[in-house]
Amino acid sequence: MINLAFIAVALFQQPAVVLKNVSIVDGTGASVRRNTNMVISGGVIKSIGQPVPAGAHTVDLSGKFIMPLISNAHGHLGNVRDTTMAASNYTPANVRHQLQRYQDYGVGAVLSMGTEQPVGVKIRDSSRAGLIPGATMYSAIYGFGVPGALPPASMGFSHIYRPETVEDAIKDVDELAPLKPDVIKIWVDGNPSMKEEIYTAIIATAHRHGIRVAAHVYRLADARKLATAGVDIFAHSIRDSVIDQAFAEEIVRRKIVYIPTLSLDDLAFIYGEDPEWLNAPFFRNALEPGVYEMVTSPSYKERLTNNPATDRERSALRIAMKNLQILYHAGVMIALGTDSGAMPIRVQGFAEHLEMELMVEAGLTPLEAIRAATLNSATLLRAEGRTGSLEPGKDASFIVLGKDPSVDVRHTREIQAVWAKGQKVSKGPVGE
Ligand SMILES: [Zn+2]
Repeated sequence: MINLAFIAVALFQQPAVVLKNVSIVDGTGASVRRNTNMVISGGVIKSIGQPVPAGAHTVDLSGKFIMPLISNAHGHLGNVRDTTMAASNYTPANVRHQLQRYQDYGVGAVLSMGTEQPVGVKIRDSSRAGLIPGATMYSAIYGFGVPGALPPASMGFSHIYRPETVEDAIKDVDELAPLKPDVIKIWVDGNPSMKEEIYTAIIATAHRHGIRVAAHVYRLADARKLATAGVDIFAHSIRDSVIDQAFAEEIVRRKIVYIPTLSLDDLAFIYGEDPEWLNAPFFRNALEPGVYEMVTSPSYKERLTNNPATDRERSALRIAMKNLQILYHAGVMIALGTDSGAMPIRVQGFAEHLEMELMVEAGLTPLEAIRAATLNSATLLRAEGRTGSLEPGKDASFIVLGKDPSVDVRHTREIQAVWAKGQKVSKGPVGE
């Protein structure tokens, strides 16, 4: 039995640590504070740019940059192992392994979007209590889909509510609510799609329980109806049509948070184009066994080339990027999510860094993309009181980078260390 009181006292008595000569990207979008110092005590940031206390332990970070840990507001845990997707992959060991991998890549929190198996509730609770290492787990627990349609049970998504009537939908939300899902996830588009009366009932019932609803969405027409029904989060990009200004303004007015998941579309076709990162250890070290061989095999590439869906994916990504630009400039709150872990090709840890690069390609500055990945996503998780930015009073949880991410967002991949609550917890995925 771990003595928690003892740990609390030990943390309190830890001598202060000072990071000296460090350059800080604080996650708020503010410009880089260069060559300053940060005082950490008890796992918390005490001050930035203040005089160094006498007797403090110092760590010289000359030439290095720190940024907050990333929060992935749309991921999946436990479903993938090797090149497979299956409910039987969902074990405590596999989930813990994936939380650890996220943390090695500087991802400090992940919202698993509605694809848990029953054991996942306990893992979520342990993770949130700080009892297991790795990224902190948030969860929609069991999502809401459509009978015989999304999400496909054959891909491991077996523990899903699939209400056929309004009465069932209400009963199912009432059953789920006591497990305290961080959000409720609904899969709306598909063949057939979820009926409007069903998702309207789910949203109204969730709101009665004080729970927000995140929607798997693709089409603008669905997004409009979901907004009217009171949805709180678009968990994917709208990517069948370009959004008009009036709807962008409606999203702002309704305070709907938008998670673009651009990397999902990119990773659907990019392996066929030999991307520059394909052989980088930063990518390869994130992969499950067999995935590299799969995505570089001639048959996989041939399937991408010959599949008409590949061109549709390319066009979907172009529209998604255009929509991100429109929504960002309209003032919509953008959070980072990737759908990593739903499929082996959506690579946990790597995808979150690729997502920031794609946001910049869509027109955000590197500091704006980093804010979406850190402070905005932490705010979506309602964790912004402790995490999401580097400011006095918040947890001393950050990534140490060898290069400046404000000049090239791909420099977020130059991870030299990951710290959580004042302790170095990882050398990063490539390490020394
Ligand atoms: Zn998903």
